[in-house]
Amino acid sequence: MENGGMRMYDILIVGAGLFGAVFAHEAKAAGKNVLVVDKRSHVAGNVYTKEIEGIHVHEYGAHIFHTNNRQVWDYVQRFAEFNRFTNSPVANYRGELYSLPFNMYTFNKMWGVVTPEEAAAKIAGQRKEIKGEPKNLEEQAISLVGRDIYEKLIKGYTEKQWGRACRDLPAFIIKRLPVRLTFDNNYFNALYQGIPVGGYTRMVENMLEGIETRLNEDYLENKGSWDAQARRVVYTGPIDAYFQYRLGALEYRSVRFETELLDMPNFQGNAAVNYTDRETPWTRIIEHKWFEFGKDGQGRDLPKTVISREYSSEWQPGNEPYYPVNDEKNGKRYAEYKALADQEKNVIFGGRLGEYKYYDMDQVIDSALQCAKRHL
Ligand code: FAD
Ligand code: UDP
Repeated sequence: MENGGMRMYDILIVGAGLFGAVFAHEAKAAGKNVLVVDKRSHVAGNVYTKEIEGIHVHEYGAHIFHTNNRQVWDYVQRFAEFNRFTNSPVANYRGELYSLPFNMYTFNKMWGVVTPEEAAAKIAGQRKEIKGEPKNLEEQAISLVGRDIYEKLIKGYTEKQWGRACRDLPAFIIKRLPVRLTFDNNYFNALYQGIPVGGYTRMVENMLEGIETRLNEDYLENKGSWDAQARRVVYTGPIDAYFQYRLGALEYRSVRFETELLDMPNFQGNAAVNYTDRETPWTRIIEHKWFEFGKDGQGRDLPKTVISREYSSEWQPGNEPYYPVNDEKNGKRYAEYKALADQEKNVIFGGRLGEYKYYDMDQVIDSALQCAKRHL
């Protein structure tokens, strides 16, 4: 399909997010001539950080890099230095503060217990109300940490986040939160964790170094002319949009952020505070400067702060797609789109929108590296 020598690029990559940037980097390293396009005005997709008053603001939600994958961890070190940030959110329940995830600090504050044995006994006493296998999130939560913690730290937050009662939600959602009878308040069970010094945007720019990248270009608006320029396409946009939603739109769970610059050095003393009561309309507040310990690039204290209130919202077509919905209806619809995608010649579908899959950053990098290995 040389087409009279018109095709200037070996590979056109649609999307300058993590999947696109990693694939582009690998393709260039393999000697390919690559073009990257993105419809947004910036690179980095959802991990984009924007600098405001020296603070790297996570525009599309807080992103904390964590992984057990040594290969991926080594890979990202090539593009950024990672700091020692460890996620330890605080829960605010009507002004009472608790340590997260559930650990000895939490149990001490909740019940006054001092030893792990006392905490375990308290939980065991409260979980007795659940007989048999937990059937939903409420039963699962009570069976993990007891009713008191469920009522104060789980129920309100979960119902705001998912827009549904805990009894109508699947049990597995809560299972990924650690419960520890130690004073370890690291939110993630991961070997490696940190934030790229200087922001994620710079890390992605480093991945894309020396690669032609055009912004503010919607591939689907001029698909024919873009396709004519390259032998192969890597598409990381929404799979249903690629096929003009002909089988119906895939649904997403959405979030909305209200971001404010405040003329004070310290608003809440932590990167993340979860509001776990039902009355506060937001689910959490992120104070971005604490991802980099409140310092600028020269190690100086930053005088101002930027916070983002995060609200969970119902997704409507046209909204920013955030989390794929893993239910039967959407799973089936995705499988049908996937069958169409498999027939598409010379197009690779990748990333969280191209594969309609909730990927953490390390997983999307791993997936792009595997994909590059298979196709380059
Ligand atoms: P994206 O970053 O979405 O990139 C796709 C790109 O394609 C976008 O830039 C888009 O503009 C572009 N595009 C789409 N359609 C077109 C088109 N027609 N033409 C041109 N360009 C197009 N992961 C973690 O590991 N830790 C976290 O703490 C974490 N927090 C998260 C918080 C939130 C709120 C969300 C939503 C996700 C979070 N993630 C986190 C997951 C992380 O964001 C993803 O793993 C990662 O960003 C996926 O990269 P991607 O390249 O697949 O997709
Ligand atoms: N969760 C909770 N209280 C909290 C934090 C989390 O009840 O303070 C519950 C909530 O149901 C959430 C689940 O634990 O959906 C998983 O939490 P995680 O932070 O992994 O959720 P994410 O924001 O990544 O969806």
